[in-house]
Amino acid sequence: MRDLIIVGSGCAGNTAAIYAARANLKPLVIAGHEPGGQLSLTTLVENFPGFPEGIDGPTLVENIKKQAEHFGAEYIHGTVVEADLSARPFRLKVDGEWHETRTLIIASGASARWLNLPNEQKLIGHGVSSCATCDGFFYRGKKIMVVGGGDSAMEEANFLTRFGEEVALVHRRDAFRCSKIMLERARKNPKIQFLTNTVVDDIYDAGQHIVNSVKLRNLKTDETWIRDVDGFFVAIGHIPNTKPFEGQIELDADGYIISKGGARTSVTGVFHAGDVQDRSYRQAITASGAGCMAAIEAERFLEAEGH
Ligand code: NAP
Repeated sequence: MRDLIIVGSGCAGNTAAIYAARANLKPLVIAGHEPGGQLSLTTLVENFPGFPEGIDGPTLVENIKKQAEHFGAEYIHGTVVEADLSARPFRLKVDGEWHETRTLIIASGASARWLNLPNEQKLIGHGVSSCATCDGFFYRGKKIMVVGGGDSAMEEANFLTRFGEEVALVHRRDAFRCSKIMLERARKNPKIQFLTNTVVDDIYDAGQHIVNSVKLRNLKTDETWIRDVDGFFVAIGHIPNTKPFEGQIELDADGYIISKGGARTSVTGVFHAGDVQDRSYRQAITASGAGCMAAIEAERFLEAEGH
């Protein structure tokens, strides 16, 4: 029986682990299917306070983990496939094994959203990617396409111009939800071509296990055409990782945890931290701050119960 289990090993989970370990709670961190969270998919992070020159994202999150381990946090690989939060101790099933805990911090983040095109899933890892940082390198001198109109799409398109001979940015509207500065930067980049009011109908060629072209459609004219593409990057947002907790804690219509104030969820003794609850800020520093809050609340809760 644990005092505290933390689900997720991004900035939120790892920071919660530092605070909980220093409070002697000996937390167990279940690393999840994307260890390190979103930062492990980034390059330079320039807005995390304390690093005037910026810091590499994967290094930052690995350092936070090491800091937690230094104070006694334990990590296991694996993903929660089932949870029972109906009574305490809470129970979590990870790779066939049940773990019990008095308190729980859900910091399982949010995963990339896909377009759900007929051939998309078949071509993931064969030219289709949700992570420019991970896969951009493979498209040196090639034709790249990015889908999306948010900050992620702009960031990825700009980043990918380091590699590709061209980057086509496909967006379904002609208005962009990204910040002005990111849009301006992308517009100024001579390698980026904007295709607005346009959607992708499918990606080819699944038969050959490579991406060589896509079918595009202009939503205003209904015109369709084929465009040669070697690397296809989907940057259309994220889905919160709350599946094992569905029906057990209150989630909103999109699956994000509904906060009950501070780090509290609808279940007493279960706390949230990071992108699994936050659809608004989604920053490394806010996730870390949320992890700190959740750990302090878990500690106070256990203390009040006499543990
Ligand atoms: P987002 O802001 O939710 O944008 C998602 C984009 O994908 C939207 O333009 C949306 O189009 C489009 N989209 C969604 N579903 C689609 C579909 N099925 N087909 C075609 N297009 C689709 O997501 P995000 O860009 O990942 O950003 C998430 C949050 O992280 C934001 O708060 C953002 O500011 C932040 N962020 C910040 C930075 C930074 O500051 N460096 C970098 C990355 C992300 P519509 O606009 O038409 O809905």
